[in-house]
Amino acid sequence: MTSMDRDALLQALLDGELPDAQGRFGPFGGRYVPETLMPAINRLTEAVETIFTTQAFQRALQSELTGWVGRPTALTRCDRLGLQWNAEVWLKREDLAHTGAHKINNAIGQALLAKAIGATRVVAETGAGQHGVATAAACARVGLPCTVYMGAVDVARQAPNVDRMHRLGAEVVSVTSGDRTLRAAIDEAIRDWVTDPKSTYYLIGSAIGPHPYPLLVRNLQAVIGQEARVQMLDRAELPDAVFACVGGGSNSIGLFHAFLGDEEVQLFGVEAGGTGSALGQNSATLAAGRPGVLHGANTMLLYDDDGQIQETHSVSAGLDYPGVGPEHALLQMIGRVKYVSASDTESLDALDELCAMEGILPALESAHALAGARRWAQRNPGTRILIGLSGRGDKDMPILAEVASRKENNDAAA
Ligand SMILES: *Cc1c(COP(=O)(O)O)cnc(C)c1O
Repeated sequence: MTSMDRDALLQALLDGELPDAQGRFGPFGGRYVPETLMPAINRLTEAVETIFTTQAFQRALQSELTGWVGRPTALTRCDRLGLQWNAEVWLKREDLAHTGAHKINNAIGQALLAKAIGATRVVAETGAGQHGVATAAACARVGLPCTVYMGAVDVARQAPNVDRMHRLGAEVVSVTSGDRTLRAAIDEAIRDWVTDPKSTYYLIGSAIGPHPYPLLVRNLQAVIGQEARVQMLDRAELPDAVFACVGGGSNSIGLFHAFLGDEEVQLFGVEAGGTGSALGQNSATLAAGRPGVLHGANTMLLYDDDGQIQETHSVSAGLDYPGVGPEHALLQMIGRVKYVSASDTESLDALDELCAMEGILPALESAHALAGARRWAQRNPGTRILIGLSGRGDKDMPILAEVASRKENNDAAA
């Protein structure tokens, strides 16, 4: 691909010409769904093009974002961490949003849309449980019953979030099929949706799935970058580099979008490097994957030579997914965003460092962005760095305790 092709694709993205009418971001995206879902997908696409853009809907959304979610979220300058890194470090604080992560921006927007198109029930999937909690809260707020599908492995490692979902009135279904994590949960949520696509609304939690979901979720999360860009310009200048962690890719696409046209700003997505580079040891979809179709879209995926989707690994449940949003696949292809990875160990270290230096306990997912930024700062001293802090780490206390006790046992054995 020539640099002219790359520039043309970026321009089309900036001009809102991508995704096209088929939901394609260049070669990626689209809608690979069973025929039975097409009426529901068409209805949603129409709602995204009409209802979503009305002043009335946007006003209602804005009112929920300020009055209920707590937006705008803070931009925090981190002087102690900056001294340590030899950089100027800023955090966009999605951990301060209601329910503790960026997921709520998307959940409340889609819950309002579900209500507006006359759905009587919501289904959702969840990995770390953050999207389940956000959806449960948003559904309670707009008055819709909801069922959340969650892999059995995640139910075990994110117990506090399961209790929160129940408390907020959601039914939680533990999924024991497939990889028993996020991918299997999405399969089950889609299966549920197919049985009654007319009155059930599928509230997807990341910038993935068939068109129009990647577009809808990006538009709902774009508020992160829009706020951060204004806040940066207010208090400093544009950053040299922006970092965000990438699971399905919603907090990152939300943070990056406002900066796509700023040529001088380098953008970095940080994937989960897990315990190593072999298939099955990580969730580094863009760094190590190949194109293929999963959950309704053509995108980058992790699969073996027989075409079997790989079970992924990450210490953070929210990054444990073998696919990624199609817009990221395009941004990687045209070179506008670089995708790197951070290992479990690097991310755990970065989490400890932020606790000690700034008094902020980040989510394990967000710690990957910190780890990626820290490595880059070592090679690029004296730069200004903006990091998307996608969520808070309270939900990770059980896994952090487990990691600590494993380490103690190892130390005792050595
Ligand atoms: C779910 C989650 C992620 C990963 O999802 P994206 O769609 O890639 O943003 C990252 N951070 C936190 C705190 C999460 O809850």
